[in-house]
Amino acid sequence: MSAQIIDGRQIAASVRAEWKLRAEKLIQSGGVTPGLAVIIVGDNPASSIYVRNKVKACSEIGIFSEVHSFSQDTQQQDVLDCIHALNQNPHIHGILVQLPLPPQFENNRVITAIAVEKDVDGFHLYNIGALVTGNAQFLPCTPYGVIVMLERHHISIEGQHAVVVGRSNIVGKPMALMLLERGATVTVCTSKTRDLSQFTKQADILVVATGKPRLITGDMVKAGAVVIDVGINRLPDGTLCGDVDYESVKSVADYLTPVPGGVGPMTITMLLCNTILAAERAHAGINYKYKQV
Ligand code: NDP
Repeated sequence: MSAQIIDGRQIAASVRAEWKLRAEKLIQSGGVTPGLAVIIVGDNPASSIYVRNKVKACSEIGIFSEVHSFSQDTQQQDVLDCIHALNQNPHIHGILVQLPLPPQFENNRVITAIAVEKDVDGFHLYNIGALVTGNAQFLPCTPYGVIVMLERHHISIEGQHAVVVGRSNIVGKPMALMLLERGATVTVCTSKTRDLSQFTKQADILVVATGKPRLITGDMVKAGAVVIDVGINRLPDGTLCGDVDYESVKSVADYLTPVPGGVGPMTITMLLCNTILAAERAHAGINYKYKQV
């Protein structure tokens, strides 16, 4: 038996179609166009591509977007001043700072300057704390996309043993928290984990986010598991591959995400959703800070 492939492009398209309607409703009934501001510092080529893709996705769904570009040697205070101005701008509902920032920047200082109700990446320390306590108002986009993929395939999370490989602040840790919140028993593995396969073989749901090409092979996966591959790795021949060895895992797992075309398209999609949600809340005059969502 071959695994059912979870098609991220298809799910992303249907989620975007639903949220495009919400954006249109906001524009028509409230006269409010959701607005996203993206801040980019330096000339990292990958970051520039991500920003371009975000801007294009915004225009396709009806979100107004603007990019604030700073040179590599910009002082942190200049970026903080820009964020403070955007916090006050009623046409901007979401603010994101494209990471990584140059070495002279303190990530947390910059991210926490963003108004909590505009933190559509969900990286503000307040939002991370809210996620830990089960009160998240913006879910970080990549793990949020994974949850939506599972939901759209009616894959139950409650009571399942979920194993997350990777503990980064943007994927592994929030992923583990979201699965925990939904009633999974969660194991988190890292580069320090001894005998990784001992844990991955126990997973009903296995989420892999390591940046190590094809780390997880078929013999490390339980028969019938759901395998979500977050990794995006460029090989020396220019092709992309995930952190999961697609060919060997697809004959063992029940569900598998491909790379490309799996989690990738979901990440930007959830950013769009968070931005429209922020605009809906602003229009309704709801300040969610310190309140349960
Ligand atoms: P990081 O490098 O920040 O984190 C990688 C994590 O993997 C670390 O916690 C590390 O452990 C762990 N790790 C590394 N090697 C092993 C190993 N051999 N066994 C177990 N754990 C290991 O990466 P990110 O979380 O930012 O990204 C992970 C991957 O996901 C990358 O390929 C990235 O490109 C991709 N990505 C994809 C997105 C999408 O939209 N699809 C969005 C974001 C990321 P330790 O902490 O001990 O070092």
